[in-house]
Amino acid sequence: MGFTELIRSLPNVHFKENYDIGQHTGLAVGGKAKYFIAPETVNTVQNAVRIAQEHGVEFKAIGNGTNLLVSDFGFDGLLISSKNLTMKLLDKGDVITLGGAQLSSFIRFSVGNGFTGMEGLYGIPATVGGAVCQNAGAFGYTVSDYITEVVAIQNGVLKRFNKSECGFGYRESAFSSGGSFIVSARFKFPKRKTAAKRQEYYAYRLMRNGVQPSGRSCGSVFKNPKGDYAARLIEGAGMKGFRIGGAFVSDMHANFILTDKGASAKDVYSVISEIKKRVYEKYGVTLDEEVEFLGVFK
Ligand SMILES: Cc1cc2nc3c(=O)[nH]c(=O)nc-3n(C[C@H](O)[C@H](O)[C@H](O)COP(=O)(O)OP(=O)(O)OC[C@H]3O[C@@H](n4cnc5c(N)ncnc54)[C@H](O)[C@@H]3O)c2cc1C
Repeated sequence: MGFTELIRSLPNVHFKENYDIGQHTGLAVGGKAKYFIAPETVNTVQNAVRIAQEHGVEFKAIGNGTNLLVSDFGFDGLLISSKNLTMKLLDKGDVITLGGAQLSSFIRFSVGNGFTGMEGLYGIPATVGGAVCQNAGAFGYTVSDYITEVVAIQNGVLKRFNKSECGFGYRESAFSSGGSFIVSARFKFPKRKTAAKRQEYYAYRLMRNGVQPSGRSCGSVFKNPKGDYAARLIEGAGMKGFRIGGAFVSDMHANFILTDKGASAKDVYSVISEIKKRVYEKYGVTLDEEVEFLGVFK
């Protein structure tokens, strides 16, 4: 059997060919994934990774696609979605979640069970797997603060990583260079002394709505350079409102690029390139992308 038949024959795999992945990302631009699956079991993920490796097919995990810019030419490989792996549970005072759980729903679950520690991340439109991979953060909180262990498939092998092996840094981890699928994460949160209140995490979402534009985006496009803010540099370079085709820099937050209906990945990529050029010309600073490119851009 060939690659397609083998993948298609896996149990509960939800296989799609030429899947319009670009439209399912935060920016809603870009092309198709040649192969897409959304397995219901870890065993099926592991078998899919093994088959991809045996057939030399590039594979990549995907959560909600809120940090991805997919090329207009798409992705010539296998995307493995975590969207059917969403369970959350308590175990001996720890909170455990599968990688496909929505981050905000996981925070509600934790607070609802008397734990505290991730409230500031409420409202980031991520899966837990995506947030762990990127070590997402906001308002002084990062997702790795209370992680004790991550279980991931790496090089086809299911492995436990204790926190020190996860390589967490600013918007990066040992899993962000690719080739990994985060199955689950275990958190040891402080137990609260008083009953948790919904308003405590909800307030962060309101704060977020006050400083970030609504619309189609990938959140912050660039990482903050040490000791500075990318948004300050981009605004200082006069780029608020700058537009190419259907992609433009937000007037509200200069580190956000928004897209109109009909925008292309090339439009977004061109705005990114122009921002980098002008910020470098004005400040001598090279901005590093926080958004990740998927597929071919040059
Ligand atoms: C409106 C908006 C606001 C945002 N605000 C913030 C913010 O405040 N702070 C912040 O840090 N980010 C923010 N982001 C960016 C984005 O939500 C985060 O980077 C998030 O962690 C991405 O999660 P995801 O599930 O969408 O991952 P995806 O975009 O699907 O993937 C991102 C990366 O994670 C990898 N990945 C995803 N799932 C897995 C898995 N199970 N196993 C292994 N690797 C995996 C992918 O391969 C890819 O490399 C924002 C985005 C938007 C659109």
